[in-house]
Amino acid sequence: MYPRLVFDLKKVKQNLDAVSRIVKKGNCSLMIVTKSFCADRRMAELIADHPQVDYFADSRIQNIKNYHDLPKETVLLRLPQHEEVSEVVRYADISFNSELTTIQLLNDEAVKQGKTHRIVLMIDLGDLREGIFYQNRDAIDEMVEEILKLSNIQLFGLGVNLTCYGAIIPKHDNLSILTQLAKEIREKYDLELPVVSGGNSSSLYLIEKGELPEGINNLRLGEAFILGKETAYGERIPGTNADAVTLEAQIIELKTKPSLPIGEIGMDAFGMSPVYEDRGNIKRAILAIGKQDADVDNMRPKDPDIDILGASSDHLIMDVTRAKKEYQVGDVISFTLAYGGLLKAATSNYVDRAYIKD
Ligand SMILES: *Cc1c(COP(=O)(O)O)cnc(C)c1O
Repeated sequence: MYPRLVFDLKKVKQNLDAVSRIVKKGNCSLMIVTKSFCADRRMAELIADHPQVDYFADSRIQNIKNYHDLPKETVLLRLPQHEEVSEVVRYADISFNSELTTIQLLNDEAVKQGKTHRIVLMIDLGDLREGIFYQNRDAIDEMVEEILKLSNIQLFGLGVNLTCYGAIIPKHDNLSILTQLAKEIREKYDLELPVVSGGNSSSLYLIEKGELPEGINNLRLGEAFILGKETAYGERIPGTNADAVTLEAQIIELKTKPSLPIGEIGMDAFGMSPVYEDRGNIKRAILAIGKQDADVDNMRPKDPDIDILGASSDHLIMDVTRAKKEYQVGDVISFTLAYGGLLKAATSNYVDRAYIKD
């Protein structure tokens, strides 16, 4: 059925090979982040088979539940909600945290389940999403001391997240604050603190430049691996495919009509007052995919001679006037995706999935 996401498993594997080679060259362990494709089970199986991947990571415990039986350790990236601590301890080997009350609940639950739960303490280096603010050194020490009192929690490492809310780019400077902090905490509290997690796909470029601070020993990659793009500067990673995952939708109407709507322009289906470009009479294809399935601003047709005009909830309208191919009703159009486009399609109930094996 269409619309559908098509996972080319061979290309996905090539992407994994390419990014893991870089990560290992940087002496880092690798967490593969599965949220952008909703922890798809077939993808998870492929990732689990890859010898260079050390952990599965996701922001949602529901996604982790989907593959916790596979032979890789699992990491919950989003700070746990209080109602989910029982599932977090059950299905995640490690979780990222910044709040003592939550960590205490995780400890209570770990006692109940007879487990030791590992946590990575998040430090905010200026992106202003999660973590204890790095300048608040007393708060960091206090937190470490409180964590060390808990019987069934292991302080497994420090972590930072950048280039998300504040769009701050990881550099040698800011990441060195984290490695220095890890060093001080190890010495002061006589701790191993095995993991210092230096960020997401935006930190990858530092390895190739030789600028990843020594002491950062873990990266968490989603976009870099699935779309083959590092996210500090948006560069393609050599040896990766941009079309490892594509989105397909079917043409349900094809007619020549004007490009300008006729009559007084009010508001469109989403309350916006749109502006239309006059292209004269054009060949318009309507595809059975809309904003319930896709993020129109984050998808691009593979055929370079056609373009997206707009979309409503259930319809995508394209201009195929200049196409070399003679499109017909029933034909399927394929799109490459940017991050938001993949996320939306992978989380829509209406989008089917298909897998190319070789
Ligand atoms: C989503 C997420 C990642 C992965 O980000 P990418 O840019 O896709 O590599 C890493 N860490 C955290 C905490 C996340 O929420």
